[in-house]
Amino acid sequence: MQESLAGDDFKDIREAVAKLCAEFPAPYWRRLDSENDYPTEFVSKLTGSGFLAALIPEMYGGSGLPLAAAAAILEEIHRSGGNAAACHAQMYIMGVILRHGNETQKREYLPDIATGALRLQAFGVSEPECGSDTTSIRTFARRDGDRYVVNGQKIWTSRAGHSDLMLLLARTTPETETRKSGKKTRGLSVFLVDMKDAAESGMTIRPIETMINHATTEVFFNDVPVPARNLIGTEGDGFRYILSGLNAERILIGAECIGDAKWFIERMCAYAGERKVFGRPIGQNQGIQLPIARAYAEMRAAELMVREAARRYDSGRTSAEHANMAKLLAADASWKAAEACLQTHGGFGFAREFDVERKFRETRLYQIAPVSTNLILTYLAEHSLGLPRSY
Ligand SMILES: Cc1cc2nc3c(=O)[nH]c(=O)nc-3n(C[C@H](O)[C@H](O)[C@H](O)COP(=O)(O)OP(=O)(O)OC[C@H]3O[C@@H](n4cnc5c(N)ncnc54)[C@H](O)[C@@H]3O)c2cc1C
Repeated sequence: MQESLAGDDFKDIREAVAKLCAEFPAPYWRRLDSENDYPTEFVSKLTGSGFLAALIPEMYGGSGLPLAAAAAILEEIHRSGGNAAACHAQMYIMGVILRHGNETQKREYLPDIATGALRLQAFGVSEPECGSDTTSIRTFARRDGDRYVVNGQKIWTSRAGHSDLMLLLARTTPETETRKSGKKTRGLSVFLVDMKDAAESGMTIRPIETMINHATTEVFFNDVPVPARNLIGTEGDGFRYILSGLNAERILIGAECIGDAKWFIERMCAYAGERKVFGRPIGQNQGIQLPIARAYAEMRAAELMVREAARRYDSGRTSAEHANMAKLLAADASWKAAEACLQTHGGFGFAREFDVERKFRETRLYQIAPVSTNLILTYLAEHSLGLPRSY
């Protein structure tokens, strides 16, 4: 497959990531998937090579690269057949500390996150009663002297069992008060929770079994004290801080989808060329060829949008519209490529050793998380097209 229509950017980084990923071939990911195990060795290697610290500024021990470079790293991991979901959150949730944390917090945490001495992988936003509707969260942090006391429950907190720190969104003003004042996006605050301290004083983690290997969990807070110095920014402004990180998250997830789509396209081209039915390669049939060609064209279009969204982000002209469209189009492109790849493989698409069914399951997630396709469309309808708010 040719390099991107948008140009061959970050060639050295892509080659280095591809080389690292080659040490973790398909049987590695297949075994983890069947045993529901965490890719500890892969994440250690990625951290040790500095890739997870790509976005941390040099003054805090990272490499200070643009978002487009981080996108190239995650894309290559997915293109190789691996899955960056085990560690990608560190790249974008760190940005909340960088943009809204105070200098003491940045100096205390960012250098250790950069080296991997501290893992910031857990992002506690979703709750059983509210995934899309974030401003309705109930987990409450009550101020008590020089600490907050947290009670409530998070769900889908991925990697909580493999993280030293959690970025937690909790309510600090009762919902009745914020609704009365008509400011429902206020009254939420962000905390950096030390997972070890919290586990010793009332926080429990329960794994959730899912259709993919994602190390996702439920987290219960029962009178868990969090030092007030771990509040990020100003109390009550947390929703705004979380929102500021979502554009980066959407662009990076979009890049992972592009990597998945490339993996599916490469796999199905190879299989369509070698599999002979009725005495000729199946790829000679238009019924097989055309869905592959369509998947390719749609991947290329989505790739342009992901790169444009990253370019805007890096030039300081962050556009939520572009970040949302990048995630939407890339997730659709990877899902369509997954469907075409499974169909091209016939029955063998269902055989574990071909990895198609695993990647098929994994890429399906991006229609739902971290933001569902419908919610992106409602955003575009309202903010880009001026249609009435529908929710
Ligand atoms: C494997 C996995 C990992 C995750 N990791 C994390 C994590 O690390 N941290 C975290 O905080 N969260 C995480 N999530 C949660 C994820 O962000 C939510 O699942 C997602 O935001 C959707 O929320 P929900 O599941 O509550 O769906 P709901 O909000 O209940 O929505 C259900 C369906 O209804 C649709 N819908 C809802 N309202 C509307 C509307 N007004 N118009 C049209 N359609 C609508 C949605 O699009 C969706 O399809 C994860 C989820 C999964 C499955």
